[in-house]
Amino acid sequence: MEDLWRILEEGDEIPSKSVMFTIDDGFYDHHDVAASIFDDFGFPLNFFVITGLLDRELWPWDDQINYALHHASIPNADIQLPSGEMYSVNLMAGTLRQSARGLRNALKAERQEYIYDWLRAELYQKLDVEFPADIPQEYRPMSWDDARSLRARGHGVYPHTCSHRILSTLSTQAKHHEINTSLSRAKSELGYLPDVFAYPTGRLSDYDSVDIEELKKAGFKMAFNTVSNYVRRGQSQYELSRFSVPEDTAKFLQIVNRFEALNDWRAHHSPLAVNSFPAR
Ligand SMILES: [Zn+2]
Repeated sequence: MEDLWRILEEGDEIPSKSVMFTIDDGFYDHHDVAASIFDDFGFPLNFFVITGLLDRELWPWDDQINYALHHASIPNADIQLPSGEMYSVNLMAGTLRQSARGLRNALKAERQEYIYDWLRAELYQKLDVEFPADIPQEYRPMSWDDARSLRARGHGVYPHTCSHRILSTLSTQAKHHEINTSLSRAKSELGYLPDVFAYPTGRLSDYDSVDIEELKKAGFKMAFNTVSNYVRRGQSQYELSRFSVPEDTAKFLQIVNRFEALNDWRAHHSPLAVNSFPAR
């Protein structure tokens, strides 16, 4: 991460074959499984952690949706979204994964100020799911000790908000809290200034210019979104792109060897249409 900063800020040369890996949220297996694989290769991994998850105050709202749908006793229900709009959950139609994605997308567009209260009071109620008293095993976080151990082994650990709520849906006050409190929590636990950020879910519509200003004021020097693209010199340091690691290896290789850049270039440079050649 420090190398990237010097490349972007000070114009350092980009070493050949440069690839950087990040992983978001801070679940236990990111430490127990992913980090040890990277350790075997001597390769650093950059972790963006939800500080409220590591503090065991909450587990992410998007995972709470998955859990509710997997444990529903009622296959369909009409629920009232935070905006008041009605939404039908029908677990008989399509896969659970599709249902979860549909609901998640609907909730990404909603104001998320009270999303955690809403999940318990509306979704869990309507689907007749008992809200777990503790974080379910599959969503348990790594500990702050794990995070410190990652740092000691040469990995990076940085904040990813306190609660994973979509920043663009929050009030300025709530944005300020998410950004500043996650920074101060991570800083006090890790003992250094973790001044790089990743936006929850990270699409262009998931953060806005107010968030970028808040990040600058808080002292962050870079931030990552999830818009599939390469990081380029001269682009905004608060909107650095990342690719998701694809399922298939061929696509992965296409990204890391920059062949994917050609696809992108072709999309923006369509060949001349035949009828634009000069007439004879
Ligand atoms: Zn995330």
